[in-house]
Amino acid sequence: MEEPKTFFIKTYGCQMNELDSDIMVGQLTKRGLERVEDENGADLLIFNTCSIRDLAERKVMGKIGQLGRVRKRRPIIGVTGCMAMAKKEGIFRKLPHVDFVLGTNNITDLDEVLNDYIQSGRPSIRVDKQFEENLDYLVAKRDSKVKAYVSIIRGCDKFCTYCVVPYTRGPEVSRPPQDIIEEVRKLAAEGYKEITLLGQNVNSYGKDKPEWNCLFHDLLYQLDKIEGIERIRFLTSHPIDITLDLMYAIRDLPSVCEFVHFPIQAGSSRILRKMHRIYSKEEYLEKVHQLKSIVPNAALGTDIIVGFPTETEEEFLETYKVFEDIKYSVAFIFTYSPRQGTPALRWKDDIPEEVKLDRLHRLSDLHKRQVAEQYVGLLGTTREVLVEKRNRNGQLKGRTSCWKKVIFDGPDSLVGSIQKVHLHSFNHETLVGNISL
Ligand code: SF4
Repeated sequence: MEEPKTFFIKTYGCQMNELDSDIMVGQLTKRGLERVEDENGADLLIFNTCSIRDLAERKVMGKIGQLGRVRKRRPIIGVTGCMAMAKKEGIFRKLPHVDFVLGTNNITDLDEVLNDYIQSGRPSIRVDKQFEENLDYLVAKRDSKVKAYVSIIRGCDKFCTYCVVPYTRGPEVSRPPQDIIEEVRKLAAEGYKEITLLGQNVNSYGKDKPEWNCLFHDLLYQLDKIEGIERIRFLTSHPIDITLDLMYAIRDLPSVCEFVHFPIQAGSSRILRKMHRIYSKEEYLEKVHQLKSIVPNAALGTDIIVGFPTETEEEFLETYKVFEDIKYSVAFIFTYSPRQGTPALRWKDDIPEEVKLDRLHRLSDLHKRQVAEQYVGLLGTTREVLVEKRNRNGQLKGRTSCWKKVIFDGPDSLVGSIQKVHLHSFNHETLVGNISL
């Protein structure tokens, strides 16, 4: 088989997958392949998949399935990411035209797997449970020149009963602080202004390596010193690991943004126990109270699952009440869907779909009203916006430190700079403003 000359990569799911795709793009570019945006012109197709929801999985299975039926020219097809880990050899059985399967812990092996396949023409698979710590993050090729994801910890040890991640990404493995600092220094030298530290649970950082004596807040103090990086964000957090030290770091470090993803998942302590979230509603609310008293302007984000097995209307109303009280800035609300290989699968998925959807819509409507109120409160004020790029309508687009999207008119030269923008209106979830002179 001939060495491929071009590749197309499609990413599904979360920011971790986006970063893994950036790393694979870097690896393939280094190998001499050219990235193309049209899959029909590519010699190699990679689908970096997500398993977190049933719909995400069905979408990608359908997409790859179609390729087996309609394509005349035969590209090499690789499936990577969480679905690769969850289904392993099963992917070859369901999609016999797939040529290689590469798990989330094996992206270092992309070159080898490709070589194996090119030499032998036989399907190749690498799906190790343990993350290979020799991954070269510096090879990543990012689309943005302004903001970058930086991985600091992989895997998860929490085992929430609905979640496949501990099984698809394996146990927590922190990345050495000196490697992270080196990467962020390099990004700063290349002109990047914002970094988002990534992990399934960034606040667990360093707990698996006590000998480093560097927990998440310690890392933030070190990264804040790097000249040129104006903003540091982090995703995602587990409430149990949001410590007072972290709250003080958010308050005291100029580059650390005052936006905290603080996912409660459900507002009923009984459901939280069933989810194995290891905090009660009261403990969660106490942490939010602590954060708000230390960082009064902190904006909060959350993830919610409605319709978890046995969730009653009263228990859903507890979630609704938490929303009314906290007024999240950002909320990702989903209906529960059972996932193969998770402990929750042992419970009957007993909440009818229409009830789940009704709960989702009620909560989404409340959230939309609250966001609109937050936006009304911002009108007439001036906020610092990091300008990221031009949008499709030709306006400049960026975000405030609290992650609010802002658009305004201005020259290209402003991309990559922080501008003071006077906010005068908004549509949907975007604020509109003028540069403040
Ligand atoms: S904390 Fe829970 S929901 Fe988040 S990745 Fe780990 S197991 Fe999944």
